[in-house]
Amino acid sequence: MFRFLKQQRRQRLRAQPFPSAWRSIITRNLPIFRRLPLEDQTELLGHVQVFLAEKHFEGCGGLELTDEIRVTIAAQACLLLLHRATDYYPQLTSILVYPSGYTSYEARHLEGNIWDEGGDPRLGQTARRLGSLVLAWDDAKRGAADPADGRNLVLHEFAHQLDYEDFQTDGAPALTARADYVAWARVMSKEFAALQSADEAGTPTVLDTYGATNPAEFFAVVTEAFFERPRALRARHPELYAEVGRCFRQDPSRYSAEGAMPP
Ligand SMILES: [Zn+2]
Repeated sequence: MFRFLKQQRRQRLRAQPFPSAWRSIITRNLPIFRRLPLEDQTELLGHVQVFLAEKHFEGCGGLELTDEIRVTIAAQACLLLLHRATDYYPQLTSILVYPSGYTSYEARHLEGNIWDEGGDPRLGQTARRLGSLVLAWDDAKRGAADPADGRNLVLHEFAHQLDYEDFQTDGAPALTARADYVAWARVMSKEFAALQSADEAGTPTVLDTYGATNPAEFFAVVTEAFFERPRALRARHPELYAEVGRCFRQDPSRYSAEGAMPP
């Protein structure tokens, strides 16, 4: 019953007229939006209505929240939800936004009694049990402004959130059938190993070599490349592109800005 009510509420939110001021923010800050097929644009705006109604935003480090900040972040996050049955990042309740790169002072356990309490410069982070996601606003905005450089902080952090949908942090978002997991695991582990070798050898890669850190970072980095450099990714890693395309049920190579944006 609760699920039915939630779906009904979301349906009502998606059907509300989209504020024209918000639409202007999206067309101004997300050049990729105008390149999307019309039905995807409509679906995206509906998702943004639900996302903004359900998620709590908090300005940190003196940042005063504006509609521009909330809408620019929401629209990028919702790009990952198109064409799929979605529960709108169910593990996530709050999005904390800093004006720019911030320093994380969490103590990290190294070994024995040794803790690293030094500041750690960061642009964004999220964790499964935290219920929150942290972003640097200047980088979130910059990531959207160039939709073809392969780097996008918001897509990266929300890809981690998708990874948590199945209650494991293993670089595998919730997929539909068991058979999907087998194919997914085979392709992802092969490509992850290839990125690690390329990173060690210093070979140029389409994927950011930060993805060689672990399978979860690999999935987040692949998501950035899938949406921002789909043609390059498809050309160099056809199997990976096809597998991730099945997961997202999208083909960004059709509307990519690769080659259309100034370098
Ligand atoms: Zn990450």
